[in-house]
Amino acid sequence: MGQDGTSTTVDAAEVATLPAAEKVALTGGQDFWYTHGAPGLGLEPIMTSDGPHGLRTQKAEADHLGLNDSVPATCFPPAVGLAATWSRETAAAVAAAIAEEALAEGVSVVLGPGMNIKRSPLCGRNFEYFSEDPHLAGELAVAYVDGMQDRGVGTSVKHFALNNQETDRMRVDVSVDERTLHEIYLRAFRSVVTRAQPWTIMCSYNSVLGTLVSQNRFLLTEVLREQWGFEGAVVSDWGAVVDRPAAVAAGLDLQMPADPGAEQALAAALEEGTVDEAAVDRAAGKVVRLLRQGAAHRDPAATYDADAHHEVALEAARRAIVLLRNEDGLLPLEGDAAAGLAVIGDFARTPRYQGAGSSHVNATRVTPALEALRAELGEVPFARGFSAGADDAADPDALRAEAVELARTAGTVVLFLGLGEDVESEGFDRTGMELPAEQERLLEEVLAANPRTAVVLTHGSAIRLSETLRSAPAILEAWLLGQAGGEATAEVLLGRTNPSGRLAETIPLRLADVPSTPYFPGEHGRVTYGEGLFVGYRGFDQRGTEVAFPFGHGLSYTTFSHEDLEVTEAGGGLALTVQVTNTGEREGREVVQAYVSVPGSGISRAPRELKGFADVTLAPGASATVRIDIPETELQYWDVRSGQWAVEAGTYRVEVGASSRDLPLSAEVALEGTEPRIPATFSTTPLELAAIPGGTEALQELVGDSPLFQDPEMVKMFEQIPVGRLTGFAGLAPEQIQEFLDRVNARDGRS
Ligand code: BGC
Repeated sequence: MGQDGTSTTVDAAEVATLPAAEKVALTGGQDFWYTHGAPGLGLEPIMTSDGPHGLRTQKAEADHLGLNDSVPATCFPPAVGLAATWSRETAAAVAAAIAEEALAEGVSVVLGPGMNIKRSPLCGRNFEYFSEDPHLAGELAVAYVDGMQDRGVGTSVKHFALNNQETDRMRVDVSVDERTLHEIYLRAFRSVVTRAQPWTIMCSYNSVLGTLVSQNRFLLTEVLREQWGFEGAVVSDWGAVVDRPAAVAAGLDLQMPADPGAEQALAAALEEGTVDEAAVDRAAGKVVRLLRQGAAHRDPAATYDADAHHEVALEAARRAIVLLRNEDGLLPLEGDAAAGLAVIGDFARTPRYQGAGSSHVNATRVTPALEALRAELGEVPFARGFSAGADDAADPDALRAEAVELARTAGTVVLFLGLGEDVESEGFDRTGMELPAEQERLLEEVLAANPRTAVVLTHGSAIRLSETLRSAPAILEAWLLGQAGGEATAEVLLGRTNPSGRLAETIPLRLADVPSTPYFPGEHGRVTYGEGLFVGYRGFDQRGTEVAFPFGHGLSYTTFSHEDLEVTEAGGGLALTVQVTNTGEREGREVVQAYVSVPGSGISRAPRELKGFADVTLAPGASATVRIDIPETELQYWDVRSGQWAVEAGTYRVEVGASSRDLPLSAEVALEGTEPRIPATFSTTPLELAAIPGGTEALQELVGDSPLFQDPEMVKMFEQIPVGRLTGFAGLAPEQIQEFLDRVNARDGRS
């Protein structure tokens, strides 16, 4: 069995018998969305479509930036909303529904999920990504991929890798240190590959450490196939390939979209022998495997129930809304508060519910929040307050004056604020985190006119919440919620649904506080991930920075208590249980979060890292024991000495609670770890030898009564001198040192 699985070997052997032209053709698209078929093997082409939060199948004119209309499809919450549910079940349900729509449209592979890490709130495409945290992103992506592939539709997990900005996305070269690469940026991809085997992985446009990802053997072959055992096909992002022969040699299997010139180049390289035939067979074999997967599930009679899918989108949107603040129980609006309600803000009537670019879905229906509120309450007075559309000729002062007047006469105001598509889209990054100035001004005046104002925010990535905004008595973070977002928002405002979403990204006080800010987005085609491991809350916690709302935060209309944390070692990882009780008066869903740290760790670490979470829905007064398993893989760090994953030996602290900064419970457990037993060499120091049983004693024997071991100051300095240098410092012969090293290594089984 080959390192990338039996099926590869079989498919590659099978395609080896195909004519060269047919093999070469398989490694590229037939047109914008279709692959080639393999007529020699009786396999038809398959169709791909964006993704990720609904289907964007283009039957007529093709483009990949959402310019031309696609067939109507359910618009589910984009990843920013889906992630705020912290619910694997919801991610799987959404993906399963998208799969049904894909089958009905004859689509075999959906181009998603997007799972790049939110390194900066400015990334224009953050709305398509899950989180700043690799554990949360990985868990949701695994659920999404399983949910979709279990229904017979393939995924294309994207964008692999280090595509964390839109600025210069086609060329930018990323410099990142090894631990950060593996522990932050590759970790979630590793989870999804090893646990869910996506049918395809989409390689990104950018370069990494000087090599285009589409031609990067280290990423596409060593990491993906040799380290993780990826069995599927590597597909290029649309237009990411510059040199198809080099890409195929590095591990790319399918270049999209069609590129006749690249096809000719590969055919010529094959003929001239400048590309290895086995590489072409591998690539074509992977595509054949994909064609077979598609063929096995093709169903021309497939249909779907658009109403049922709207319900799935609604349930996901309900769970995605995050109640950031709720002073004196302003929300929910019940009784008189609902009766005296006025709604302000153009987004209530013209909702923004998805991002712009290749993921843009032609929704089957959209109910604005204002309409949903009116359906429940009858006539509700409304004023736009500002214009959500850039091409609107309305006078801003008049819009604001009208809204402030309405606020003055209302019992309670709900004010819808947010960002437009003109500032948040695929293809470019934001330049700041602010709300538009006219909205800030409206907010100030509305709050002054009526302090009973709840703010609803819609946007695709963290914004700066001004002091005025933070002073609003209630704030609902409604992200981008898909086509049912208006209904879900109305339900939460009116208390028909109890909010339970949690922040999947920190809301910082200001852009300057974000750890990546000094390095984002780089310059002259280069970016250095200078903040290293300290991305998102890892960085805020490490520096002790105050934030507006921490990672994991989200309130409820009820309250919960956490008690009786128990943690034990389990299979090299950890297992914990905690008792959760609904101590309030409404049913609610609590997301229990477990963060791990290693006090006294010998490596650089964030103060705490999310390593597990689970949700539980409880009736008032009810309690349940919540169990969270943290497998050994989650505790691993990337050991740069051995180039492998390892678990450090030591005491592990597990903190449990309701957000990264609300962790009332903690417990400690010792783990033996799995660190490699690296042999001592000429560059090993006395300090490192001390960690090897008998190492210090053997060294003392070697240097005899040298002052290096007597004088306390010398000892301190000596600790850091590689033993190979003792030729000079202690007059030892290299042979003596080698013999000593052999002895130490042999005794501890390190040779
Ligand atoms: C995007 C991908 C998308 C592809 C096809 C690219 O521009 O980066 O995410 O799947 O186009 O539309």
